[in-house]
Amino acid sequence: MTSVWWVRRDARLADNPALLAAQADGPAAAVFAWSPAVHLWSGRRRAHLARVLWSLREDTAGALGVRRGEAADAVLAVAREHGATVVHAAREASPAGIGAQRDVAAALEADGRELRLTGTPYAVAPGRVRKADGSEYRVFTPFSHAWREHGWPSPAPDADPDAFTPVSSDVDLDQRAAHGDADDPLAARHEFRERRIVQAWEDYAASGLHRYAAERDRPDLDSTSHLSVPLAFGQIHPRTVLAATAAVAGEAARKLESELAWRDFHADVLFRHPRAQRESLTAVLPEDSWLTGPEADEAFMAWRDGRTGFPLVDAGMRQLAATGTMHNRVRMVVASFLVKDLHLPWQRGADHFRRALLDYDHAQNQLNWQWVAGTGRDAAPFFRIFNPASQATRHDPDRRYVERWVPEVDTPAYPEPIVDHGTERAAALAALRRGREAARG
Ligand SMILES: Cc1cc2nc3c(=O)[nH]c(=O)nc-3n(C[C@H](O)[C@H](O)[C@H](O)COP(=O)(O)OP(=O)(O)OC[C@H]3O[C@@H](n4cnc5c(N)ncnc54)[C@H](O)[C@@H]3O)c2cc1C
Repeated sequence: MTSVWWVRRDARLADNPALLAAQADGPAAAVFAWSPAVHLWSGRRRAHLARVLWSLREDTAGALGVRRGEAADAVLAVAREHGATVVHAAREASPAGIGAQRDVAAALEADGRELRLTGTPYAVAPGRVRKADGSEYRVFTPFSHAWREHGWPSPAPDADPDAFTPVSSDVDLDQRAAHGDADDPLAARHEFRERRIVQAWEDYAASGLHRYAAERDRPDLDSTSHLSVPLAFGQIHPRTVLAATAAVAGEAARKLESELAWRDFHADVLFRHPRAQRESLTAVLPEDSWLTGPEADEAFMAWRDGRTGFPLVDAGMRQLAATGTMHNRVRMVVASFLVKDLHLPWQRGADHFRRALLDYDHAQNQLNWQWVAGTGRDAAPFFRIFNPASQATRHDPDRRYVERWVPEVDTPAYPEPIVDHGTERAAALAALRRGREAARG
């Protein structure tokens, strides 16, 4: 009997319970739905997706099918073609992911078939970490303790690369994967083959991880794991990463584990509060504190294009435009600058990141923006106003990062600061105080 494996954010053969469940019924028919939503992605991210799928197709001896259309139509069509009564997939926790699995389940059910969900892209499934009374943790640190206590299973065995049945495609991956190469000199930086990603992670765990705790905040050094892109596409599971860090003693490994706990925390918050994808969880700033009109657009464009006159902010925004990624410390600085110095709503910055980031992940992006804005869980808005100048001195002490992305920084060609940080900081604090008083009634 053939079952369908609906490929979602889990484009991998290793440690993939949904795929193993499909193969338990015999050779699986694997399909990825190239849905209309993918056309809203940046060209660079779409090209990367094509490369990821191209690699997965190679690893399945050419069997993976990639079908244009909504998941409900593509998955049902493949199930019918292969006479499959059961479709296996991983469970998603974002509003869009839940919507897609509901649509697929309904389409299959109406046709006498069934969707079975196994596993999630997280170490611990969203909604599972709870207090003794069943309620949610609102603050990260106790969540992370309970998360560790909850634990996760050991990685599942690899799937059988020969146990697939060929599915036809109507999306030309070769052509799509080639897109963007010419204008993206760093395309090769982002590995897209599962085997090499796992190898790169194992190399990092063996020889780079020990520097992580001390250097992870330094954008001028290349000291972080670069796991976010493969995690976003599901080419490695956090469980695989956590199995490796568990074998390593010391602060660096614990710190990396804690970052993966943040990943699960944000997914948990979005799962419990779907409105958090657009709305502030805590409305700390009064509505009239936002800049509006043409001035707002001008400020936004200066931020987006890396022309604010604040070197660390501009370096980050230019790194994002050139590569589709940005160092975490700098993401915090540019996000704080948009909200606290330019007084623009976090949603506007989050939308820009959605279009530009290669590692875009809805929960991580929206909830990190809320964290910086001070509107999310674990909010400390009064303390989360980053000073772009002192952040640069502390985290880019030799200015190597800034000079790399803003080579004209010390020349007359570089713009004057578009705002005065001290003045805008005071304005943000005044708005926060007004917001606090309004909330107290
Ligand atoms: C405003 C803003 C937006 C962000 N948007 C995204 C996004 O869309 N997708 C995304 O994956 N990350 C996002 N992050 C989190 C973080 O910046 C990236 O995960 C990190 O820079 C990726 O580099 P790395 O894999 O080398 O990280 P490492 O430092 O090596 O961390 C290892 C892994 O831990 C997780 N992690 C690390 N920091 C965080 C964090 N703050 N929150 C949640 N998980 C984390 C990631 O999965 C990361 O790959 C955002 C952060 C901010 C401040």
